[in-house]
Parts: sequence; C-alpha cells; structure tokens
Amino acid sequence: MSLEQSDPQVFDLIRKEAQRQESTLELIASENHVSTAVREAAGSVLTNKYAEGYPGARYYQGCGYYDQVEQLAIDRAKQLFGCKHANVQPHSGANANLAAMMALMQPGDSFISINLASGGHLSHGMKLNASAIFYRPGHYELDPKTETIDFDSVRAKAKELRPKVILCGYSAYSRIIDFARFRAIADEVDAKMMADVAHIAGLIVGGAHPSAFPHAHVVTTTTHKTLRGPRGGLIMTNDDDLAKSINRSVFPGSQGGPLMHIIAAKAVAFGEDLRPEFKTYAAQVVKNAKTLADSLTAKGYRIVSGGTDNHLMLVDLRPISMDLTGVEVAVTLEKAGIITNFNGVPNDPRPPRQTSGIRLGTPALTTRGLKENDIKLVADFIDRAIRSKSDDATLSKIRNEVAEMCKKFPMPH
Ligand SMILES: *Cc1c(COP(=O)(O)O)cnc(C)c1O
Repeated sequence: MSLEQSDPQVFDLIRKEAQRQESTLELIASENHVSTAVREAAGSVLTNKYAEGYPGARYYQGCGYYDQVEQLAIDRAKQLFGCKHANVQPHSGANANLAAMMALMQPGDSFISINLASGGHLSHGMKLNASAIFYRPGHYELDPKTETIDFDSVRAKAKELRPKVILCGYSAYSRIIDFARFRAIADEVDAKMMADVAHIAGLIVGGAHPSAFPHAHVVTTTTHKTLRGPRGGLIMTNDDDLAKSINRSVFPGSQGGPLMHIIAAKAVAFGEDLRPEFKTYAAQVVKNAKTLADSLTAKGYRIVSGGTDNHLMLVDLRPISMDLTGVEVAVTLEKAGIITNFNGVPNDPRPPRQTSGIRLGTPALTTRGLKENDIKLVADFIDRAIRSKSDDATLSKIRNEVAEMCKKFPMPH
C-alpha cells in the first residue's frame, strides 16, 4: 500500500515539506538537495536487512548484494579522495569523529581543536559531547585581527599539552585550511593529525579546495553537505594499522548494524561526485559564495575575516545596527522565504541563542542552478528583508518574489 493510502498524515507532511523546499531559498551552509537517484537508494528495500560486520565478514546470512553495495561505496570513496582505506558505515559526522577518536586515543588522552564559538563543531570537544567526556580537549585560537587560524597558537597549545591528536576542519570557517602546516606541527610534537572536512569535502573532491591527503593521518567527513549525498559519515586513512582500528571502533566499538540503504545512497552520491560535472558544480559553489560575500559587503555588512574562499561566510550584522541579533534576522529571513541559521561571530558578546551574526552558504542554491547574477538578486532579497524586519507587508511581498524566482530553478532530478 502506498504511503498516501496507508498514512495520509505523514504523506501530507512530506508533501508540504517538499513544497517548502521547492519554494524557498536554502542558504544553510551545511545543507544541500540530493538527486532523485540518491533518494531512491535511500528509500529502497536495503533498509530491511542486518549486515553487522564488513563485506565478506558478516554476522548474518543473505548479505551477498549488501557486500557488493558496500564495496562499491568504499571503492568510490577511495577513488574520490585518493586514499587507501575508507569506512562508509558511520551513521553521521559526529559518529565518524567519535570512532576516529577511539582509534587514535585512549580515554583520558588529550587533543587540540578550535572551540565551537570560534567555528568548530560540538564533536570537537564541546563539554557535553563524548569528545570532552572521554578525552581532554584543549583549544587553539583564531588570530583576533585576521579572524583566521593562528598557527602560533596551534604550535603553542601543541607544545604545552603534547596532545595525541591535532584536529582541524570546521563548521563556520570561510578560509582555505593549510593542512600541510597542521601536519608539520603534529610531527613536531609527535601527534596524529585528524582533518574533519565535513563542510568542504565536496569542494576538495571537486578540486575547489586543497586536499587533506596526504597530510592528515585520518580524514572524517559527513556525506550530506557539499558531497550532496544522504545524511551520514565517512572515515578515511592511508595507514593500514589505523584502518584496522577505525573499522573496530566503528563496529563493534560505537555502532551496531550499518544503515545499508544509506550506504547504497552514499555509493550513488560518490558516483555522481566522480563525474566531471561535479567539478563544475564545486567551482560554481565557490564563485557564488564570493559573489554573495561581495554583494553583502557592498551593502554595508561585515563578512568575518573579510570574505570567503569556500562555500560559506559568517555575516556580522553589527555594522547595520548594534541592536540587530542573529536570531531575529534568521526569523525575519524565513518570513521572506530565505532559510539561514543564526551563528556567533568570533568573540561574539551575545549568547549562542541570540548571536550577532548569521551563517550563509551556497551549496544548495548552486545545486538548483543559480549563478553569480542570480546570487546578486538573492543578496538584494536578504538586505531588503533585514531592513524591513518589522514590516510584514514588505516581507510577504519579498516572500512572493522569492517563490517566483524559485520557479525558475526547479529541484534536481
Ligand atoms: C556537520 C559537521 C559534523 C557532524 O555532522 P552530523 O552528521 O550532524 O553529526 C562534524 N564536523 C563538522 C566540522 C561539521 O560541520
């Protein structure tokens, strides 16, 4: 029986959500729109089976096709990133990070990263997260002037704490990451280097950002951001021994049965990422982000660090008005059909649920086919909406214009 017949309530909510996605501009930097092929694999009968273990070594019978599907995902991931080993089972980016940490450290060992407020991720040592409950995080800093990674502070923290792991890779950082420099410092203190490329993985494989390999000992990523696959995680390494510990720390270390329908969807997405068109996509994501940053700067906004080299930017709203908070701007923009998230700027005086900034990214809009000239119109919408925040009539007028624009850029098929 179809979903529509068997559960009209859920069917209707999904239909409405599809309409919401179709008629709004998605600027959340960590989101994207997957292809019909990826959705078809994710919604397939592969959800039915237990496949604990790895290809060729399962704990359940009937896994023949599952072995082939997982092997395809592994082989394509290795080809994409140019590395020797890949584990495609992590259910999410946070799970991938936990398993990587379990492979690289013993409980009580220390690592260094950047903290959440400076653009890091909660799985990089936020106090309520497993990474801080079981390990000991220390943090290096941004240079307060340039708002970019301060390598003097990375080296100083590394020498002070002698960590087992130096972690780089961020959730809200708009500049190129110099992986070679991180590796040089890791070598100085005999630490392993871990790169969490969750946000920029698609740019890396599309040739629009330098690769974390061969510098990083372990690379983790999500598969649903710029890689444009299903929600999930991925861990890679070139080291044979580390590969074995990673496999053990994913299963049985931190997960049970893999989500084989999602692994099939990862294989499909990696197949798409290997096509030449994906390079064009990655380059366009970056061009669109630069255009958005330039347009907003011209309208008086301040972009943290002065601009962007990748797919995202943090917009400091204070030059427009000291009273403007990130949360009210995000709510205002949603009324105009523009979906974003509020985000602290470096040394933000406001608390995390208010903030003085918003984070914007171009991966999803680029998937819909928007180019530089379209992005300039998006910047106009954003600016007009923010400046009309208490004028519901104007906001609803912009909402209609946004919906009209969206019709010109249908969802990918
Ligand atoms: C998004 C993100 C993650 C976690 O992804 P989830 O799938 O939400 O667990 C990990 N690290 C970084 C840097 C991220 O941006």
